[in-house]
Amino acid sequence: MQPAEEIYLDHVSSTPVHPEVLKTLGELLPIHYANSDAIHSAGTRINQLIQRSRSVIAAAFGVSAEEIVFTSGATEANNAIIKGIAFANAHKGKHIITSSVEHASVYGSFEFLENEFGFEVTYLPVDQDGRILPEVLKNALRPDTILVSIMYVNNEIGTIMPIHDLAKIVKENSRAYFHADCVQALGKIPVDLENVDAASFSAHKINGVKGSGVMLKRANVPFLPLISGGQQEMGMRGGTPNAIVNILFAKTLRLALEGEAEHIHHVRALKQRLIDRLSTLESIVFNSPSEGCSDFILNISCLCVPSEVMMNWLNQHSIFVSAQSTCSSKTKQPSHTLSAMHLNQKRLDGSLRIGLGYTNTTAEIDRFLDVLEEGITTYGKL
Ligand code: PMP
Repeated sequence: MQPAEEIYLDHVSSTPVHPEVLKTLGELLPIHYANSDAIHSAGTRINQLIQRSRSVIAAAFGVSAEEIVFTSGATEANNAIIKGIAFANAHKGKHIITSSVEHASVYGSFEFLENEFGFEVTYLPVDQDGRILPEVLKNALRPDTILVSIMYVNNEIGTIMPIHDLAKIVKENSRAYFHADCVQALGKIPVDLENVDAASFSAHKINGVKGSGVMLKRANVPFLPLISGGQQEMGMRGGTPNAIVNILFAKTLRLALEGEAEHIHHVRALKQRLIDRLSTLESIVFNSPSEGCSDFILNISCLCVPSEVMMNWLNQHSIFVSAQSTCSSKTKQPSHTLSAMHLNQKRLDGSLRIGLGYTNTTAEIDRFLDVLEEGITTYGKL
């Protein structure tokens, strides 16, 4: 348990484990240590629990159990889906499409296919809200396009992409498969998988444990496994299953979906409280769109204090936020999402991402705002 005075506003990066998940983890870990592929009872017992978890997850997404594959997280799921579909379908064409605002695990996979395997990649531009417009995608589709991958919710600014329309356009106008990185959507907005051929999810973004993810891949989509190995995960992901976390995913998902409406209601009020007060500050601009945005993400720029200075100041006061995606936080490059939105240098330099969670309180938001204002007064020069 973190000390009470710490204020965690980085729930986009990771979330605290739900007490019920933690409790089950503690119960399962000491007793289920056998290899779940072993044919003795100790193994089959665990295997049954994994299969039950798989069925619960499949039912929640409206797919069949064979279409759910456990992975070590969404980074692996994104890599496996993008590379696995691209390689298995390369004989039909080598054109693949993604956006210019994807998570590093998606654009890194596309760059890898482009640089090492001669695939041709179109990186779709976004509008001033960081959104992919359906007609932009439609114009990019070609007869040799085999895969399109677009994130459901952007992890830096919270923009919700029109996934329903994008997936429909792909189905109606091409032979390509459509993948959606759903990491920041799950448990935060309703996830619509109509016309979506593959999707990725991560447990630790929804109050589950780290090192746990799910790749959803429809049975009819040709696919080559990224990790060769045994017969595990229907031959789609080799390696001894991380049984306990795979079992826990179902409970994590159930808790996230059961609590979703209440969480949204609570977090929306916190976000509005932030917006109301930040709007009165002359040096603050909003990078997150005012419409069609996740309630859990607010990206702002402080025009008079660089991100690093403000983050250090907040950190000194035990308040934790991010400047950009944590997976890219050590590159010192400006956020590629904000860059793709063509924001000016001052906005790029002063950006902060506030990642809200349902465990945050009004008092925490007020304290954050007080400390931020103090930081502006201390360091700010407009
Ligand atoms: N996609 C998005 C949109 C994310 O925000 C993240 C987490 N930073 C990932 C993928 C990677 O998830 P994981 O940490 O499970 O590898």
